[in-house]
Amino acid sequence: MSRHGLLVIISGFSGAGKGTIVNNLMKTGKYRLSISATTRSPREGEQDGREYFFISRKDFQQGIMENRFLEWAEFSGNFYGTPREYVMEQIKEGCDVILEIEPQGALQVKRKFPEAGLIFLTAPSMSILKERLTGRGTETEEQVARRLSQARREIEKMHEYDYIVVNEDVAECTDKVEQIIEVMHERSCQKQDLISRFREEAKLMNL
Ligand code: 5GP
Repeated sequence: MSRHGLLVIISGFSGAGKGTIVNNLMKTGKYRLSISATTRSPREGEQDGREYFFISRKDFQQGIMENRFLEWAEFSGNFYGTPREYVMEQIKEGCDVILEIEPQGALQVKRKFPEAGLIFLTAPSMSILKERLTGRGTETEEQVARRLSQARREIEKMHEYDYIVVNEDVAECTDKVEQIIEVMHERSCQKQDLISRFREEAKLMNL
């Protein structure tokens, strides 16, 4: 029996290791990745169309007006959004699509698509999160402080997720997320075809 495609949201604190885990998941070849649009400037080594579609604020606003984003959010002074069309097409084709997005967007998706699976990734503690954000050297001290105060606010949203995974060891965390995605396929909301089949069969059996 063919499986329905899932919308899998990998979210959590900036610095929790979402990017690394998502890269590992993509290496399995089992998933499709949604590439977001952002108004932030590319970091060294980032390529337009690979990490993000880097667009102007004007184009982003236009995208919002034309309802081209499945969700969008302002994060740390920049806009980020998920292009709707690609995601919907992949799901229709039966593929599992991964969205790596911050919590405001994740919860927007949950409201629009209750069947989406939400995973919150976190570092083992706030102090380790701070160390990771400082250690990666991609943000200034001020930006790190901003992302940490954002994380403080995000703590209050953690309970709204389906799963919370602590990223202590990258390989272990990747395995756990993969297992969670497998289990998501077994949820009753993914089993409408099976339920219908039973209903039909019962009817044929005059039950
Ligand atoms: P960064 O600037 O570090 O690449 O991303 C900042 C935050 O924005 C991260 O938490 C990342 O997951 C999130 N993000 C990336 N793309 C999207 C998106 O399309 N929508 C939302 N809501 N957040 C996103």
